[in-house]
Amino acid sequence: MRIEVLTIGNEILSGRTLDTNFAQLARALEEANVQIGWHSTVGDNAERIGEGLKTALARADAVVLLGGLGPTPDDLTRKAVATTLGRPLRLDEHVLDSIRARVRRLGSKLPASVEAQALLPTGAQVWENRLGTAPGLLLLHHDKPVILLPGVPHEMEALLRDELVPYLGARSGARVVSFTLRTAGAFESQLHEKIGPLAQRWPGATLAYLPSFFGVDLRVTVAGADAQQVEDVAASACGELRALVAPVLYAEGAQTMEQVVGERLVERGLKIATAESCTGGLLAKRLTDTPGSSRWFERGFVTYSNESKVELVGVSREDLATHGAVSAPVAEQMAAGVARRAGVAVGASVTGIAGPDGGSEDKPVGTVFIGVHTPEGTVTRRFSFLGTRATIRERTAQMALDLVRRGLAGLPLEARLE
Ligand code: ATP
Ligand code: MG
Repeated sequence: MRIEVLTIGNEILSGRTLDTNFAQLARALEEANVQIGWHSTVGDNAERIGEGLKTALARADAVVLLGGLGPTPDDLTRKAVATTLGRPLRLDEHVLDSIRARVRRLGSKLPASVEAQALLPTGAQVWENRLGTAPGLLLLHHDKPVILLPGVPHEMEALLRDELVPYLGARSGARVVSFTLRTAGAFESQLHEKIGPLAQRWPGATLAYLPSFFGVDLRVTVAGADAQQVEDVAASACGELRALVAPVLYAEGAQTMEQVVGERLVERGLKIATAESCTGGLLAKRLTDTPGSSRWFERGFVTYSNESKVELVGVSREDLATHGAVSAPVAEQMAAGVARRAGVAVGASVTGIAGPDGGSEDKPVGTVFIGVHTPEGTVTRRFSFLGTRATIRERTAQMALDLVRRGLAGLPLEARLE
């Protein structure tokens, strides 16, 4: 089954809004093993929406239209679909009732024009939208599904998850199992060298390398008609891959590095405090992104100036003068010092040069020292990151979290694949 996606909206065409809806949809459909053959974008123009739909129906097995379901005159998707498919708009009493009920709950603040959203192409099946007034719609045109989803991202996502993926998944008839192994500290090329053509030995499987500044995610999707075989292949593939990348594997599925760090801290009954220079609080932000982090995150300092490193976390003035702020002794004292000052067992520190200026020959832009203090001792590591100021900061925070994770688990600090 090969589908076409049509994103609708002037704000997308003008580049003002990034088409994150398509990205969400494409990722979700990949998991359901539904192939997207084409993706196009049209503005809020009924004629062009109609043309886009006709073109899509001529080549795809199903068409998904994203956006333009709102109540304002520039929301033309329902009208364009009604005209193109010869299904005149009709008032759907049930949808009208639920729109009115929703408006009442919100204290009648919505204009009457929202009721236009109850005008549906004849024969449309309604996918209830619990988060907004425009429902998702399914039409069968000569048995080809034409699906309309609202453009508001969280509404689209809910309908995607609850309705579209199960519907298209069932229609495609394939059983699909996928898993993700998350690695940090190895390049894509190193992983590829290690893993090699392994995936070719797994029937029905595809392996994707997904690099970002958090590391490289390895995503395996196994699809086939025989559910048992698909599960067996996925289980053995997961086992083989896990063993191969074990030294750099930090999480599976959607779990984040900060969640793993939180788990390790809870397991050991410890708390962490942070002292950051070039990341300006990003490490603390990441650590507190996780709900429940107050159980294990104590406090974080942004010690940007030399003076603050001395005053807040007790770095020695002599070492600052001798080695410079971006150095192993300073990172070490920051990590141990912040733990001591905060009265906790674990401290993490970051000091580096995020650029674009401020580099020198022996410490170029991207030079970062990370320190980790645990009950087992204090360690530091030097990194040389490439990239812009923003990506250097992101990479630094991720590696700092990874070093904390390694320190807490008693793993070697250096991630080596062999
Ligand atoms: P709906 O069908 O729910 O009415 P719409 O396209 O008519 O959606 P708009 O008013 O155009 O609604 O957009 C609603 C919000 O959703 C806006 O903030 C818009 O930027 C955003 N949005 C619309 N389409 C997309 C998209 N493809 N990706 C990301 N955001 C989008
Ligand atoms: Mg729109």
